[in-house]
Amino acid sequence: MVVVLGPRLVHHDTRGRADFAFARLPAIRVGIRPCGRRASKTRPIKANPELLPPGSSVPKGQKAMVHCSDISTLLASVPPLLGFIPENSLVCMICEEQKVIMTLRIDLPDPTQSEIFAQKIAHIVLGQGENVTAIVAVFGGGALTSAGTPPHADLIDALHRLLGDDHLAHGAALWAEACAEGARWCCYCGECDVSGTLPDPSATELAAESAAAGVVTHARRSELARYVATASEHDVARRAALLGDMSSTWACSSREALALVRDAVHAMARGDLEADDAFIARMAMALDDERVRDASLSFAAEEHATAAEHLFFMLTRECPAPYRAEPAVLAAFYSYLRGEGALASMALDAAVEAAPGHGLTKLLRFAIDSATPSAVLRHLVHRAGVEAVAMLAEDSDE
Ligand SMILES: [Zn+2]
Repeated sequence: MVVVLGPRLVHHDTRGRADFAFARLPAIRVGIRPCGRRASKTRPIKANPELLPPGSSVPKGQKAMVHCSDISTLLASVPPLLGFIPENSLVCMICEEQKVIMTLRIDLPDPTQSEIFAQKIAHIVLGQGENVTAIVAVFGGGALTSAGTPPHADLIDALHRLLGDDHLAHGAALWAEACAEGARWCCYCGECDVSGTLPDPSATELAAESAAAGVVTHARRSELARYVATASEHDVARRAALLGDMSSTWACSSREALALVRDAVHAMARGDLEADDAFIARMAMALDDERVRDASLSFAAEEHATAAEHLFFMLTRECPAPYRAEPAVLAAFYSYLRGEGALASMALDAAVEAAPGHGLTKLLRFAIDSATPSAVLRHLVHRAGVEAVAMLAEDSDE
């Protein structure tokens, strides 16, 4: 079996904390040999058409390819696919035409919830297309039983039953006691003696290529929280007072407000942005205009997309609530488009907490919860671009 693992998207589910990673990294080509156990033929459940995103093709891996020929290395290569080291997690690499098009990570369930949990994963896998296959890895979750069975075997059995041989080959479900150097791993089939230990996850070829490409891999998922955490309560309280005064005198049109955001994106790209209180407050007021916020998706189509994303994350950390909801949902959108699902989820959580319920937040939550490929959301960027051009052309005395 030859598998090409591509870039990452991550998904977050508030009910069970799950992450999807779509691919953007250097891709990895894996030639692992399943243990070869023959299984009885089972029938997969049908994909639920409602879960199939429209035009559900995912961006093809575009970057350098990393070749991986053994299971030990594959398991150790998971952190750069997710952006962090998984702990007590099930990781499902969903492959199409030998490429991994999405990586799902989800907290391991209470064993009594194995069936429901397996159904959820199976629907996500089958929702990605008729021809997808999965490689499943459980990291942690307990120790081998005295009989040598890995933990969460019921969950794996349920997945085999629901996905069938066509979508989850026997020998493609693996357990590792941790995602760490020297951690033992084995196959779930119970009939082979395929096993080994993990090499250093920070020293895999994929880790090296990812680092060279500037892709950050964190030690823990929780480390992502710092990208959206309020920088200083004291500073934010001062800006809240400033915004209280400004809100009654703010007179910028949508055109002027969008121009302010555009100029800030360009300043961020040049590296000469001066983010004092007055600037933060102006950005908060500008993005509080729903038209301006939605049109600000348009920068994702430009060369300054990275600068725009940095600006929106910075504003998320520096703006008081409820204003921080607007840059937070933009930050979530931009990171989701890049395939950074876990980060997008955290930014979206910040947006919901600051101002529950606006439309873009709901749309993005739906997209993430249903594992919508980021490419599908690109049409919103295009629409925002058309709207932005129209807004900037509006009569200045409107
Ligand atoms: Zn086996």
